Amino acid sequence: MALGEFQLIDRYFRPLQQPGGLSRPDVLLGVGDDGAVLRVPAGRDLVAVLDTLVEGRHFLPGCDPRSIGHRALAVNLSDLAAMGATPAWALLGLTLPAADDTFLHALAAGLAELAARHGVALVGGDTTAGPLALTVQAMGFVPPGQALRRSGAAAGELLFVSGTPGDAAAGLLLERGTAGGLHVTPEQQHAARYLQDRFLFPTPRVALGEALRGLASACIDVSDGLAQDAGKLAHDSGCGLRLELDQLPLSPQLLALVGAGRACQLALTGGDDYELCFSVPAGSLAELSAVATATDCRLTCIGVLEAQPGLRLWQEGSPVQQPAAGFDHFAGAD
Ligand code: ADP
Ligand code: MG
Repeated sequence: MALGEFQLIDRYFRPLQQPGGLSRPDVLLGVGDDGAVLRVPAGRDLVAVLDTLVEGRHFLPGCDPRSIGHRALAVNLSDLAAMGATPAWALLGLTLPAADDTFLHALAAGLAELAARHGVALVGGDTTAGPLALTVQAMGFVPPGQALRRSGAAAGELLFVSGTPGDAAAGLLLERGTAGGLHVTPEQQHAARYLQDRFLFPTPRVALGEALRGLASACIDVSDGLAQDAGKLAHDSGCGLRLELDQLPLSPQLLALVGAGRACQLALTGGDDYELCFSVPAGSLAELSAVATATDCRLTCIGVLEAQPGLRLWQEGSPVQQPAAGFDHFAGAD
């Protein structure tokens, strides 16, 4: 590599050990030795997650490197959020075809900006030459026994989703250039930009995940499409699910660009939203509404957990056909 592996780490990644310039006291030893030494605060459970982004699979060749850096951390913070964990540390496995300064500067800046926002210290990693791919391992804390799981929901509880799912999937179609058959008029440019940003710079719902501890009975983050991920939550909880398509929170930007039918399909089966989908007992609605206000998250009830297994879609009071499955990496071409 032109820059040299150690120069590259020193210049771009060592500074991320101090998110926003602050050092974390729980990092006893970080970048520079053979391993990091980290101290889990007394009386906390450690939650560990890991996600990989591969060029051509999770982001398009030629994608803004700032977005690549942001997303590599964001998808992991979203997993921590789904567990109700407070993020603390991350490690980065970086495989690069070439040590290009401009590229690395932007990639590290995307990562650094999100890390600083959540006080996450990059405490180590590995750097190798090869086809572009990033693996981040992130770790965070929860009070003992309070991690949220997919498996805690019960029949009769209500299912909620944060934000407006479907936006990121439409954003990806627009990023692809062909726009997936979408025609963008000059008046729709603003909405199109919004949707692209939802794909390129997703917002992990960290504060929401923390606030749902002790309130949500089960939680999952929506990465592979709402229908599939909500279905997993129901299945892992030993329940079925009735989803009300009329209740899906569709953004005005998505509706303006693709219309109601396609918007609904994108919300159900598109991926990359990184919203939280969770169940709460009906008696917790007042508390949940306070959480929505405190975390500035739009929270929408989209269905109910039922005793009968399986996913049932309802629209205007009648059952409707199942959507195609969500995104599955091994189900053929994406
Ligand atoms: P070793 O050969 O002992 O595995 P490396 O030379 O790979 O050590 O890494 C040197 C130091 O730099 C280690 O502390 C490692 O954690 C850190 N490091 C390597 N790559 C990265 C990266 N992409 N981001 C953050 N830290 C990194
Ligand atoms: Mg190494």
